[in-house]
Amino acid sequence: MSFTLHGIAVSSGIAIGHAHLVSHTSLEVAHYNLPKQFIAEEVARFNTALKATRDEFISLRGNRPLHAAAEFDAFLELHQMILDDPLLSVAPVEMIERERCNAEWALKVQTETLVAQFDLFEDAYLRERQTDVTQVAERLLKRLTGQPGHQPPPARHDVETILVAHDLSPADLIQFKPQQYAAFLTDLGGATSHTAIVARSLNTPCVVGLHHARELIREDDLLILDGEQGVLIVNPDKTVLAEYKLRQSEWELERKKLKRLRTARANTLDGTVIELHANIEKPEDIVEVKENGATGVGLFRSEFLFLNRDELPGEEEQFEAYRAAAKGMDGQPVTIRTFDLGADKQIKGVERVASNPALGLRAIRLCLAEPQLFRTQLRALLRATHYGNIKILVPMLSGAAEINQTLQFIDATKQSLDAEGIPYDREVRIGGMIEIPAAALALNAFTKKLDFLSIGTNDLIQYTLAIDRTDEEVAHLYDPLHPAVLHLLSHVIGTANKLGVPVSVCGEMAGELIYTRLLLGFGLRQFSMSSAQVPTVKQRVLTTSLPDIAALTQKILRADDPMRIRELLDKLNRL
Ligand code: PEP
Ligand code: MG
Repeated sequence: MSFTLHGIAVSSGIAIGHAHLVSHTSLEVAHYNLPKQFIAEEVARFNTALKATRDEFISLRGNRPLHAAAEFDAFLELHQMILDDPLLSVAPVEMIERERCNAEWALKVQTETLVAQFDLFEDAYLRERQTDVTQVAERLLKRLTGQPGHQPPPARHDVETILVAHDLSPADLIQFKPQQYAAFLTDLGGATSHTAIVARSLNTPCVVGLHHARELIREDDLLILDGEQGVLIVNPDKTVLAEYKLRQSEWELERKKLKRLRTARANTLDGTVIELHANIEKPEDIVEVKENGATGVGLFRSEFLFLNRDELPGEEEQFEAYRAAAKGMDGQPVTIRTFDLGADKQIKGVERVASNPALGLRAIRLCLAEPQLFRTQLRALLRATHYGNIKILVPMLSGAAEINQTLQFIDATKQSLDAEGIPYDREVRIGGMIEIPAAALALNAFTKKLDFLSIGTNDLIQYTLAIDRTDEEVAHLYDPLHPAVLHLLSHVIGTANKLGVPVSVCGEMAGELIYTRLLLGFGLRQFSMSSAQVPTVKQRVLTTSLPDIAALTQKILRADDPMRIRELLDKLNRL
């Protein structure tokens, strides 16, 4: 029987192959009590399993395959840390002793307690780390129950195989060679899960969040997986199969062509130079930046160095991270944003309870309210400027007063470095993010006092349309093509260009292909996006002629009917 399932597309490409099912251990285990004399033995059984799992991680790290992306180490380290968390490694032992229960049950109860703590996080990234906890607990449980380790089933060589799993951990994925499987699909997982990130780095099509796929699919079923649309077709008929085979060869041809673009300059047909930069969260992401041919880092979200930990990073740790990113880019620009904490990214020690967090003490507002934290970061940043082409970007500025205060902080930090004889780039450029409508409308203060601008469309849209970007209930109203948003974008880009102040867009709009020509038509010459999006955006730039899109772009700007705007945009993209 043929049927279709829809999930979340996380790694593009079309794969056609036979299903290979991975067994999965759910944390459903028996609960029984033990006589007192067997408790020591039960504790020893738990500790043996714990040690075997620990050893397994050590050996996985030691035998990291050459093809594995740099982030694999980080994933394994995270999973080792979770395994060593007292709630997983010590609390079950205490529970076995206290309640005289079996080790599996103690592990299950303690895992649930740990997972529940992650529910409290508002940040989607942190919430998704629940999956990592469950994956580690399952690994340990397999050891306890004496099942063989998490070995992936061997791939068949006679046909293309697609791995079907309820869930896959990054540690499981690390064991696959590239192209060993044509695709991966899982019931669980979200777009920012580690598994999704790893699948992307393996360049293997992947769809996650398919809910009951593992239950519905049988071993050897014929599958078509579309990693672009998030679609899975099980046992397709001949016509559908033929259509997808054609799409697959078109896709592969396209990918080969895109690869050749890596070193090409992103110039439009009329010869205008466009800079395509990448957004990163940590210095290790530089590998991907280079692989995808980005010519700089347009946004280093430095706050990610502060998340997921008990102690905040000190000056030295931050300095090393910023320096590593700058050095990794070999003189190409690296724009580091001062931390944008608060709202959906809270850290221990400086949490604030605000009735409306997106409008509260966030980003630069929090920096100015926590001068010690801000000074530490500025010292680390300025010191790192000596080792590469670093620019400093300040998020969420609303007007002249905040800009002045920020610049005073930077000046004071420079003076203290001077007094200590510590070198830094005296010409370091300071830029501001345009994320608040007030900033876009009163640009003067920004263009006069700052060296460059970067438009954060994610927040600019949120604040212009009064749509909480984290609230699913209003997600359908989040509209980058709202005339108000388009006017603000065109105004900021046009004004900056007129005044000769460099301007870029670093929000998600910059990496979405449907907006590339529109933004070019508004006068944008610098884009910053996730690394993986660079090649496709580059291709769009290469096939765009600025004189040809000018009139249509202006027409879009004058239109006020949403349907009409979409029609015109469609036309623009088909030119
Ligand atoms: C933005 O708001 O567009 C932006 C790039 O910043 P962030 O998504 O980190 O808020
Ligand atoms: Mg923002």
